Amino acid sequence: MVFRKGIILLVFFALISCEQFEYSRSEFALGTVCTIALYEQGRSGIYNSIFKRIFEIEQLMSVNIPDSDISRINAAAGINQVQVDNDTFYVIQRALYFAEKSGGAFDPTVGPLVSLWNIGADVKRIPSEDEINNVLPLVNFRYVELDLQTNSVYLTKIGMALDLGAIAKGYAADEAAKILRQTKIKSAKIDLGGDVYMYGKKRDKSPWRIGLQNPVGDRGSIIGVLRTGECTIVTSGVYERYFEIDENRYHHIFSPFNGYPVNNGLLSVTIVSDNSMDSDALSTSVFVLGYEKGLALVKTIPGAEAVFIFDDKSLKITSGLDFILTDNSYQTAATKE
Ligand code: FAD
Ligand code: MG
Repeated sequence: MVFRKGIILLVFFALISCEQFEYSRSEFALGTVCTIALYEQGRSGIYNSIFKRIFEIEQLMSVNIPDSDISRINAAAGINQVQVDNDTFYVIQRALYFAEKSGGAFDPTVGPLVSLWNIGADVKRIPSEDEINNVLPLVNFRYVELDLQTNSVYLTKIGMALDLGAIAKGYAADEAAKILRQTKIKSAKIDLGGDVYMYGKKRDKSPWRIGLQNPVGDRGSIIGVLRTGECTIVTSGVYERYFEIDENRYHHIFSPFNGYPVNNGLLSVTIVSDNSMDSDALSTSVFVLGYEKGLALVKTIPGAEAVFIFDDKSLKITSGLDFILTDNSYQTAATKE
């Protein structure tokens, strides 16, 4: 009996030692490079589970996958309702909640505008006013009908299209953190291309340090460092996707009110909170609303903090954040709100 137990234990440890150790792993998903770092506790099985979940969410919510829930909803716009997975239904519900809360600044029916502008494609072209005016009436979250009994979604006008690009990455980060909570992982960084989740505590118990991207600098150049405990840090900015014509920048965050890339003096908005999906929706909402209305919205969300970076190289930071400015060209205008 003791002998058999010994063999079982041996096999168990052999299996564990077969599992590869990885400090971090990156994969291309959700249209961006996703990097998970489990540091010293990194085991291939946990990375596999997390990426499996991320790819599941992409498969359900991508507009670029023809049989995703979102593509099926869009294809049936004005025709019939479409039954979707619980995950998709939940994210759409949350997107509509933020659409309401932001007075329509955040709008998941922005799909027709995203397609029209096609920011990030090889061809850069400013649509005509007629083209914009043609699609604007299709951008209205109030035309989305949800059937709670059957998990079905109906876009009531032909030509409407959902786009969850401003919220679904946040959901994926929360789901990754949920998987980590079922493990013994003590500290991890989940980075889904601008949506960052700092999980647990650093080994030496010192605060996490997260660099804030300089919105006009090279990728990776930072203007300062946030020091935090476990939290999620999500940024919406003019630098993620854009094209330039005659020195004017046309980026990927649109005003649902006029159909153009938002142009209100903000270069980026970073939200820090304990929920990545809400932060993702909030960062886009606040970016569209602009500083004053955006700050008012942030203040209605318990525990949410924000960093606003403006095109005159000033920045404003809400009082709950510990932020160290490292780029002197921004220093003089740094303010605490
Ligand atoms: P955020 O500010 O969080 O979101 C901006 C994005 O939201 C815009 O790109 C637009 O899609 C949408 N948006 C614009 N204005 C508004 C508004 N007023 N209200 C609400 N939403 C708005 N990219 C690819 O190139 N190829 C892919 O195959 C691909 N697949 C993806 C699949 C999924 C499930 C997700 C979530 C994203 C995918 N992406 C893909 C990336 C996506 O297109 C966006 O670039 C990305 O989500 C933008 O995130 P962000 O954090 O930079 O900006
Ligand atoms: Mg967002």
